[in-house]
Amino acid sequence: MSRALRALISIPLHWQILAALILGALYGFLLPQEAGYITWAGDLFLRALRMIVAPLILCSIISGVAGLKNMGSTGPASGDSSQSSGAAGALGRLGLKTLTYYAITSLLAITTGLILVNLIQPGAGMEPPALQDSSIEVKPLGQTLLEIVPRNVFQALMQDDMLSIIFFAFLAGAAMLRMEHEKGDTLIRFFQSAFELMMRITDWIVRFAPLGILGIVAGVVSEKYLEGNLLESVRSVGTYMAVVIIALFVHAFITLFAILRFYGGINPLRHLKAMGSALLMAFSTSSSSATLPLTMECCEKQGGISNRTTSFVLPLGATVNMDGTALYECVATLFIAQASGIELSLTQQLIVVFTALLASVGAAGIPMAGLVTITIILSAVGLPAESIGLIITVDRILDMFRTAVNVWSDSCGAAVIARSEGEGIYGTSAG
Ligand code: ASP
Repeated sequence: MSRALRALISIPLHWQILAALILGALYGFLLPQEAGYITWAGDLFLRALRMIVAPLILCSIISGVAGLKNMGSTGPASGDSSQSSGAAGALGRLGLKTLTYYAITSLLAITTGLILVNLIQPGAGMEPPALQDSSIEVKPLGQTLLEIVPRNVFQALMQDDMLSIIFFAFLAGAAMLRMEHEKGDTLIRFFQSAFELMMRITDWIVRFAPLGILGIVAGVVSEKYLEGNLLESVRSVGTYMAVVIIALFVHAFITLFAILRFYGGINPLRHLKAMGSALLMAFSTSSSSATLPLTMECCEKQGGISNRTTSFVLPLGATVNMDGTALYECVATLFIAQASGIELSLTQQLIVVFTALLASVGAAGIPMAGLVTITIILSAVGLPAESIGLIITVDRILDMFRTAVNVWSDSCGAAVIARSEGEGIYGTSAG
């Protein structure tokens, strides 16, 4: 590998992507008729992302659910065998609290995004030529719910039926928890390794994001330029970004602050300060998983939360609890619908809320995973998967913000749950 190429690759990914954004826009603007020479890179990138969706989600959920087994053995709760029934009870209680916290905060985040995107309507008035002719099939809610149970698991995998894949993955993960020791453990280890494998492949794909984005941006800009509505599109995408970022701030600094204060009796600013370095790390790496060790350290060392709580709440949270991703996916889907001139009914918006929750659970804690799982929501409301071309250009930037919110929510969960277990943190009294 030549030295110049190596130097280029060693530039942090977000700078590479920023450069690709600018170069792609310039190319599309200056050479609109020649865009075809590089748009194939974008198509290739989108194909690769779609390729990894089904296996990544399947392995992510199975290993996440089945991983609950190992988590129980890290804390003192799992003690010796004479205490094992008490340990199981404690594990169950902690598990229930944790899952309730995850579900409630993710739903609150999605609702915040839903309200803002409906109020501000960033996609309204955009010309939607590329999407209008694709057939939009809207299924009744009952049918969507019924079809969550696949007739054939392999067919679901082949056709990227995300809800069915998620359903089966939950079932399989839960069944592994109940299997005989040795057999269950073998399977769990297998799926955990498979998950690592899928994450590695996703990581490779994401490394090609700069080239893919170069092609996509050049294609979009040249198309809009030739149609004469380039400025309008830039304005819409800018407003869309603003909506996502404002909604993320509302969730992080109003909703989660209120939960810390009123449910946990914790000073939110003190917790924010304790989590500072983890949040910066999340922002700059766009990966909850990569940040996990630091999140744990900040919670324990700065926040004084016990290892028993953090080792249970945080690893699960890093893959399952993604408030920022859920919010982002909801806003993005509604933006795409608005930009395509499609009015989503109340029922369809409810489907978006429900599937955004599942899609955020299915997203791995790595950069741009949310962009992969958003196809779940798009297909649930009948929007073509290709329409992510509209949002892909700014995805990586928004990823930084949403990942920080994902990690912030995990840490708030650890703090609140620690308090509910009687731990005294940040000067609150134990008991
Ligand atoms: N990058 C996010 C995370 O690691 C996931 C996403 O793409 O939304 O938390």
